[in-house]
Amino acid sequence: MNGNIHSIETFGTVDGPGIRYVVFTQGCLLRCQFCHNADTWEIGTGKQMSVSEIIDDLKTYLPFIESSGGGITVSGGEPLLQIPFLIELFKECKKLGIHTTIDSSGGCFSHAEHFQANLKELLQYTDLILLDIKHIDRKKHISLTGMANEHILEFAQFLSAQNVPVWIRHVLVPTISNDSDDLKKLGEFIGSLSNVKKVEVLPYHELGVYKWEALGMEYPLKGIQPPSDEEAQEALELLTATVKYA
Ligand code: SF4
Repeated sequence: MNGNIHSIETFGTVDGPGIRYVVFTQGCLLRCQFCHNADTWEIGTGKQMSVSEIIDDLKTYLPFIESSGGGITVSGGEPLLQIPFLIELFKECKKLGIHTTIDSSGGCFSHAEHFQANLKELLQYTDLILLDIKHIDRKKHISLTGMANEHILEFAQFLSAQNVPVWIRHVLVPTISNDSDDLKKLGEFIGSLSNVKKVEVLPYHELGVYKWEALGMEYPLKGIQPPSDEEAQEALELLTATVKYA
């Protein structure tokens, strides 16, 4: 089975525990203003790669990955747009004892029967989900990502009910997603979940701006500076105030 792959990073250190073999899938439904992978948005393009091609390549890095307590992370784009491919990939990983992680925005979560059946099968082979919650406020979420957030919050609750370990991640963008009342509300939401292993604040950065320019698109957050370490720490405290770690 083939997947639509944007790129592969063989020594990722920020997308899950240990050293990660990170597969960036092609295609996303959201349009986050801070996206540093805007070239992954288009669905159905990218490089066609088979499960065995990826596994063969991954095997060459296994000694480093295993000794670091790492594994594979599928990121994007939005990996859950290609669940059948992920099922086959993770099944093979599990045969080799590799820790499996998905980095998702939850943007394509749905209660449709077919999606639910596929997702539940995939979760049998998934050790960890990194769930990026962009904003707790519906209107601000639409303005930031182009999409409402109800189904994303439902995805978080679904994972909690299924007892799937998650790391919740929040990109902190000054003036956009750093309002303290919003952070408190998001913190209360995170505190209502029973499967949270970790909460991470990802400070906004401008590293992907060149991709917007290369794609001929105007960068919407021009002029916004990354938050200070202190601001990121304060945000983390608000987000974790009521979390009971699983
Ligand atoms: S969900 Fe991720 S890949 Fe998709 S637009 Fe947002 S930041 Fe970019």
